[in-house]
Amino acid sequence: MAVVPELAPNPVIEMLVPAALSPLAIAEERCKGCEICISACPHHVLELDRSLVNRLGYHPVRLTDAAACTSCAICARVCPDAVFAVYARPREA
Ligand code: SF4
Ligand code: SF4
Repeated sequence: MAVVPELAPNPVIEMLVPAALSPLAIAEERCKGCEICISACPHHVLELDRSLVNRLGYHPVRLTDAAACTSCAICARVCPDAVFAVYARPREA
C-alpha cells in the first residue's frame, strides 16, 4: 500500500514568505462556506467573512488572527474544496 509522505519543510518557500505575512493563502472564490474548517481549527482563528459574497454565492472563510495560526494545516486537510495553501512550517502554539 502506498503511503502519502508528510509535507517536508521547504526552505525556499519559507524564505520567500516572510513571517509577517499570512501563513495561509485562502482561495476565497472556491469556498462554499460549509464551516468544516472553522470547526476543525484547534486555535479558533477561522470564521466566515459575512461582509463578502464570492462568485459561488457564499460568505468565504477568513483568517482572524495570523499570529495565532500554527500552520498545523488541519484546515487544509479537512476542506473538501482545496481552499487553503499553508506556507509555513508547523510550530507550537
Ligand atoms: S493552519 Fe491550523 S491553526 Fe492555522 S487556520 Fe488552519 S487549522 Fe487553524
Ligand atoms: S472547509 Fe473549505 S469550503 Fe468549507 S468553509 Fe472551510 S474553506 Fe470554505
